[in-house]
Parts: sequence; structure tokens; C-alpha cells
Amino acid sequence: MNKTITSALIILLFTAGVAMAEGIVNDYPELESVSDFGGDLTIMHLLGHRAAYTSMEQLSFEKGDSNVLALTRAGRATAVGGHSTEQCIDAVIATSGCTIGNKNLIVIHSCSEKPLWFVFCNQNTMEATYLRANKTVLAEYLTRESTTTDKNALYNEFMTDNSVFEVSSKYNVDANDLIADPTPWNTMLGEIGPTDAMSIVYVANPLARWSPSGLIAGLQLHDHICPAVLCGYFFSEMVVEELPLQSPSDKYVNIATPPWCKDDTMTPMLGITNAVRMVSADIPEEMKQQLPSPPYGGGGGHGVGGAVIRWNKTTNSGDGIIMSFNKLEAIKLSDSGYLTATTGAQRGIEVLKIICWMTENPDEARKVHQIEKRFTVSEEELRQLFTTKENPLEILEILPEADSEAANDSGAQELVASPLSIPNVKLPDLNILPVASACDIVLSTDPNFQYFPAPPAEPEASGDIVTDYPMLGSLAEFSTRSSPDDLSIMNMLGFKACKVGMGLQEFEKNNPDMMVFTNAGYVASINGKSTEQCVDAIMDESGCTIGKNNLVMPRTSVNSRVWFAFLNTSNMDCIFLWVNNNVIEDYLARDDTENHYDLMREFVQVRGDVVFTTYKLNLDKDELINDPEQWAMIESHLGKKNAWMMAWGGNVLAKHQTPEFLAIVDEHTHICAGTLVGYHMVDVIRSELPTMGGRECAVTLGGDTLISVVPDCRNDAILALLDTTPGRKGYFSTKLSAEQINELAPEAKDATTIYIAWNKVEQHGEGIVLGFDTMKARELSGSDYENEPFWLCRLKCLTWMADHPDECKNLVKVIHRFEVNDFSEVQKLQSVNVNPLAELGLTNKSFVPAETADTHTDAETNDTHTESEAAATPFIPASACMAIVLVAALLLSRRQ
Ligand SMILES: [Zn+2]
Ligand SMILES: [Zn+2]
Repeated sequence: MNKTITSALIILLFTAGVAMAEGIVNDYPELESVSDFGGDLTIMHLLGHRAAYTSMEQLSFEKGDSNVLALTRAGRATAVGGHSTEQCIDAVIATSGCTIGNKNLIVIHSCSEKPLWFVFCNQNTMEATYLRANKTVLAEYLTRESTTTDKNALYNEFMTDNSVFEVSSKYNVDANDLIADPTPWNTMLGEIGPTDAMSIVYVANPLARWSPSGLIAGLQLHDHICPAVLCGYFFSEMVVEELPLQSPSDKYVNIATPPWCKDDTMTPMLGITNAVRMVSADIPEEMKQQLPSPPYGGGGGHGVGGAVIRWNKTTNSGDGIIMSFNKLEAIKLSDSGYLTATTGAQRGIEVLKIICWMTENPDEARKVHQIEKRFTVSEEELRQLFTTKENPLEILEILPEADSEAANDSGAQELVASPLSIPNVKLPDLNILPVASACDIVLSTDPNFQYFPAPPAEPEASGDIVTDYPMLGSLAEFSTRSSPDDLSIMNMLGFKACKVGMGLQEFEKNNPDMMVFTNAGYVASINGKSTEQCVDAIMDESGCTIGKNNLVMPRTSVNSRVWFAFLNTSNMDCIFLWVNNNVIEDYLARDDTENHYDLMREFVQVRGDVVFTTYKLNLDKDELINDPEQWAMIESHLGKKNAWMMAWGGNVLAKHQTPEFLAIVDEHTHICAGTLVGYHMVDVIRSELPTMGGRECAVTLGGDTLISVVPDCRNDAILALLDTTPGRKGYFSTKLSAEQINELAPEAKDATTIYIAWNKVEQHGEGIVLGFDTMKARELSGSDYENEPFWLCRLKCLTWMADHPDECKNLVKVIHRFEVNDFSEVQKLQSVNVNPLAELGLTNKSFVPAETADTHTDAETNDTHTESEAAATPFIPASACMAIVLVAALLLSRRQ
């Protein structure tokens, strides 16, 4: 479309939006802040606003009360009636004043299949509201919203319709009160069910006691803080201390077997992509009894914390530790009656005691976690740990019984369990040097550019930073409830990033072509300090928000260097800013000892080019295809993963601001062909199965399970969109060996993914085995995987895949359909010592593939070429991105 016409349309739409917004804002003036922050008002904004506004009335709190905690399952992956719900988040922020930077807005990982709710807790009174949307009613409003000619009337009707929330209740959730008299707890269980009761009580109470940012990252993925999520926090601390990443070649690999809630904290804190750097299979009950710290009842957690390996892809070797949690000791120290509780409800209260003890006494709680063993692994051993049907606990000699067996195994003999002494080496900067190059920024001193290379005039000291610098007023209002003293170095860092990034792009706030990317958040840290306050500043300064789908927050590890990127989606110009850690570390250290106001005055004056190493790049797909030399420069300045994120992801997101794509980037850090395969598989899963979304850690109604036999990026996409987290036993992954693939029936050679929807109430489950016609996708996209560079063929393939959803959906193969009527059958498929594809009969020569529902696919599937390709590169489907090169390399080296 002609650019002028596009702009005219945008202006027209914008004007129309303002006119509509004004109507409802006249009737409800409190909506003004929502439309200021979130843009043109929609039903989703009104929903989030109503939840927050009702809660403010019921819990008697004012906007910006820092003692109020907001939790929601709204988000990019949660849709109702085909409409995603991230705009609710903007409305919650604008109405309640709860923000990510203040750590009192918790966006829970969820999916469309799960209930959509909002929770607010006033931590002064420990009273909480719970509002669950009525999806049927909401879907009707959404349909009418897209057809009505009188939105104002519809919005007015919506604002007073009480049937919008099917449950709206208020509870006292104070742990001490509930422990003294569990009657209200039992009431909650009956009214809203154990999952949601836990989401409220097991979040409000621990966070009122202790709220380190890494724990919040785990909570977001897991949806509550059970003792085992806390274990994951302490295990992660241990890994970072014992096995610090020492070079860009170092990566963490999680040997999660058996997975439990701890993995949902370890995944974000250690920056582990579940899709490619995790092995997880379950173990049978009798094996659990042999563990050093055996299981005591349900509730997740039975001692062994799995192993984490620091793998170096240059030396092809790894150091690992196996950790454990002394659950018995924690039960004893917290005076919990967990072991003698007879009912689920009672056990819930006894678990609450453990949670409260652990979060009241984190130093004591840390002591009940220990390192069981240290070990080193070779390439061959790592391969073995990943292999389907191999038991990592036997290989690592955790199971005492297995010793004799393992001794017969040549792989296990090579394993050296040696005490390691790893000095706590300070992480070097990534190999990104601010050398002069074509894309280095020459910083302007033009004072008309509103950024800091030309520092603002230094005003008289008034004692108030906002009086000195009125430009900070908006941020102070947004993030610190107008207490300018609370503006932090991190707030200022995000603010400066906007000044530099937007200044160089010549963007005004709310420019419709602006998209901001950053890894700042609860995990990425500078000198141990998390960076979520930067996010508040970005939202306030740039106007980019979660709800507008122009703020992308890929989750990287605690060790990763913080960066910000400002993309112009109309021309793909990108300003990329690396934070110069030494500068910020210095200010953070001085902040502990010096006068905060004086320091902030000084920091405001620091030039942007001192704080950041800045690059200007053009990421346009066609430019890159025409001039592939550009890639080397992008990669050398941004690093490999960020180059993928910005060039692969940026090109897709600039064209398709699809909330689900953004949800995938937040989880996986980039869009690759693999995640797009996952995205299209989710479509097929939804049309094939009565999916309920991933399981909860306290299973009530059942839930879905994703079992992968090929560690591949597609798993992260499925996990992001269907909420099958490993910690809640929704995700299991091993890797078929070349021999195991050879044993598969010809029609089953593409099988990578098993998805099962289990309904506990009906004691019935349905499952499918999926594969993807990778070769066909490559061919249709016109990419040449044989001759083109790694990044280029993928860029072509993935942008084609994003542009052609219907063709791609047809390339997803349903290889097998099955039913289960006993949960033990599901457990067997996810269990160690089992090859799930063999268990499902896919190795049988007489295996008959599932009938394909779509005749189109039949016509296009050419089995002979697919089969031979699969045999040649079984573990490197087109969809796989570089992150699995480690795995692929292992395999190839082994085959040669
Ligand atoms: Zn849990
Ligand atoms: Zn990927």
C-alpha cells in the first residue's frame, strides 16, 4: 500500500478512535487515564479497567498504592472469542497504578483455554478480590464490537453489565488467619477451586514477605509460589554461584528429570530455553523412593533437584551439579503438619506454612538446599543424557540401585564425578566492541534532538529532582506515584534509553511506527540488580506498551547484558543500545553510600554515549537478501541471538503484530522457522483435540501434556501458547537417537511431537503425534538450505511461513491419533526408560498413519523425498535454529 495512503488511514483511524473514546470517557472520566496510556479504548480495556476499578472500591485503595498487588491471566497468549487480552493489562496499569517496575503487577503465563481472571490484594489488610470473566458474555460483546455502528452505546452497556464477571468475590487471604482458622480457605476452595485459590493465597503471602525479582519471574511462569518454586529459586542461585557463565560459549543445560515445579523458576532465571536445552522425563514411583530424599506425599518436589550443566560449545565439555532439597527438614523447621495432613484442603494449609517459613527466613531456607554431587560431561555423555529411553539419574549415578547397571554401561564409566572449584569469575562483556564501523552512531550534538549527548542545562538544585528536571515528571507520576525521591538509577536508565533511541529515530512518544525491544525485566541484571524499573520508563516515555503490542520483552538469563532496541517498522531502521555495565555498576554502587538526590542530578547529566554503546542498523529483509554482507556486521555488533531476534523476529513482527507471535518472542527470544512450526501445530492441536491447556501443579481437572522427541524451537512456541510448562508437568522432552529414528515406520519418520489432552473428570484422554513437512516449507519459500548462509535461508523460510499461514498449517502432519482411558498410560509415555513413539506403535512395520483430514496435504506430500531427507538430517529440521547446533553437532560427530 502506498505509504501516504497508509498514513492517512492511520490518522483517520486515530481520529475516529479519539472521537469514540471521548464518548465513553465523558460518561466515565476515570477511563481517561486508560485511553491516554493504552490508546483507543476497546472492550478489553474496559474489562481490565472494571476489574481494577471494582477492586479499588472493594479494597479501599488509591491508584498507585505500592502495597497493592495485581495479578492477571490476561495476556498475548490468552484470547477470548478470538480476541487476545493484552489490552486488559494496559488498563490495569493505567487504572490501579500497579506496574512491572514496582513489582506489583504480575502477568501470569496462561492460555486461551484457561479461565481469565484478575486478582488484587491489598497487602496492608491482606484482603483480596477475585474477578473471573464470563467468557461467553465477553465473546458476545466482542462480536458486537466488531459490527456495531454505535460503540459508545455498546461500551456504556458493557460498563454496567454485571454478568461480565461470572465470579466476583473478596477474601481475607492472610496466612496467619487462614492457619488459625482454615474455614475461609475451605470456602475459597469450594467457590473458586484449588488452582485459583493457590494463585491468590500462595502469591499474596510469600510476596508480602519476600519478593526477589527472579522469584517473580518463576511465579509468572508457574502461576503461584509453592515451596518447590522457591526451591527453583535457590537452585538457580546455586547454579549461578557455582557455575557462572564465563564466556559467550557457555550455556546452561537443564537435566530436569524428574521435572517438578522448580523447573518453572530455573527456566527463566537461568535463561534456559525449554525447547532445546532441557531433558525431562518422569520417573516411576518406586524409583522416587530410591532418591536421596524420597517423596513425602504430593505437592511436587521429592528431593532431587535435577542437574544443571554449564556447557561450553567451544571446548565441547561441561561442568555440572546435582542439587537436592531437604524437604523433611523444611517441613520440620516450618512446623508444618504436612506429613500427617489427611485431606487436600488441610495439606494446602500445611504447605502454606512451609511457604511462609521459607519466605520469612530465606537465609535458613537456602540452607536446606544442597549440592549432592559435581560432575563433568563430555560430548558423548551429554548426548547420552539427552537420548530417549536413557535414564539421566542412572547415568549420573544418583540412583544407588542403578550403580551396578550403570557400571556395565561404557558411557557411565567415563563420567567423572570430581569436586570442582570454580572461581567466581566476573562475566566478561560480550564480544561487542564499540569499534568504528559503518553502523556506528556518530552522536549528534544538535540540541533540538531530545537526547543526552547534548545534556540538558544544569539547573539550580531545588532538592527535588522533578522540579530541577520537569521532563522527569511524567515518569515520577507513572512509576513512583509522584515521589520523585523514589526515581531510581534503573528508572533513569530506561528513560535515557528512550531519549537516545527515540532521539536518533526522531520518534515522538506514541509514534505508530515505533516498536521497542528490551531484555530488561525481572531477570536480566546489572551487578545483581534486576532491571524491571527500566520497563516502566520505556512504557511512559515511548508510549509502547504490552497492550499495544509494540513493546517486546524477550526473556534472557540473569547473566545477559542489558540492551534496548528501537525499531522503525516502516523502514526497518533500528537503533540498538547495549548498556555499558561498568558505568551503571558504578552509579549503583555509589547509590548505596551517597546522597540519592545528588547522584540522580549527576546521572541525568551523563551523556548517552557514555551510558550506551549504540548502533544504527537496517534490518529490512529485502535489503539483507540483496546485500548479505550486511549480516556479518549486524551479528558482530548485536551478537548472534540478538541478530536473530531483530532480523528474523523484527521482520515478522513489523509486518504481523500478531499477539501470539509476540508471546512466542517473549518466551523464545526470537521468531524462527521452528517456532512458526510450533505456532501452526498449535492451530492443528486446537482443531484436533479437546485441549484444556497445560496442567496445573495441583492437578484438578487434568490438562495437556506436550512430549517432544526432538529438542526443537517448536516446543517453546507450543509451550508459550498452550501453557504446557515443564514445572507443572506439562512438558517432557528427550531426543531420539539415530537408531531409534531408523526403527520408526517410514510414515512416522517425521514424528517429533506428541500432544495429549487428558480430562481427569471423564478419565479420558485424546492424543496426536505430529510432524511437519520441513522440506516442502523450504521448497515453497524458495530458500536454499544447501547453498545459502545459515541465517539467510532461514530468514527467507520463516518470513514466508509467517506470510502463508494456510499453506503452513497444511504442512503439519497428523501422523497418529490415539485415545487413553487411564492416566497411567499418559504417565508411561512421559516416563524415562520408554520410547514414547515405540510405545504408541510407530516403530511397527505395519503402522498405518492417521487419515489426513485435509486432502490438500495428501496431494502435496511426497513421502519418498521426505523420508530420505528425514533419514539424512533427523535432528536438524529446517525449523531448527542455531540454538540446537550443540545437539546437532553431537549427533553428526557421532555418526561420522
Ligand atoms: Zn507448584
Ligand atoms: Zn529458535
